[in-house]
Amino acid sequence: MGSRNRPGLGIADGGGYTMKPFTEGFYLSPAWKRCRASYIKSRGGLCERCLREGRYRAGVIVHHKTHLSPENIHDPEITLGFDNLELLCRDCHAAVHSGKEDVRYTVDHYGHIVPR
Ligand SMILES: [Zn+2]
Ligand SMILES: [Zn+2]
Repeated sequence: MGSRNRPGLGIADGGGYTMKPFTEGFYLSPAWKRCRASYIKSRGGLCERCLREGRYRAGVIVHHKTHLSPENIHDPEITLGFDNLELLCRDCHAAVHSGKEDVRYTVDHYGHIVPR
C-alpha cells in the first residue's frame, strides 16, 4: 500500500487516513468520554479561543495542549487533566495544528487533527 496524500482537513469518511494505534484505545475509553464531556460542560460548550476574541462559537474538539504520545498516553495529568485540555471549534483547532510548519496532519476518527 502506497501512502496516499489527502490534502485538506476534511473529516475522513471512512478510509485513507492513518489511525494512531496508541491513541485509538484512549479515545474509545470511558474515562476519556467522561472527561471530555465534563470538560465541555465546564467551558459552557464554547470554543475557548473564539471566546477570547468575543465570539461565541460551539466548541467541538477537546484538544490536548501537550499532544498525546506513546510516552504520555498513560499519564492521566496529560490525557485527562483539565490543565492540558482546550475546547475548540474546528477552525481554531485546525489553526492550532497548522501553526507548526512542515508537519503533515491526519484526521483521526473523532475528527481530531493529529500530526503524523
Ligand atoms: Zn474557535
Ligand atoms: Zn488537537
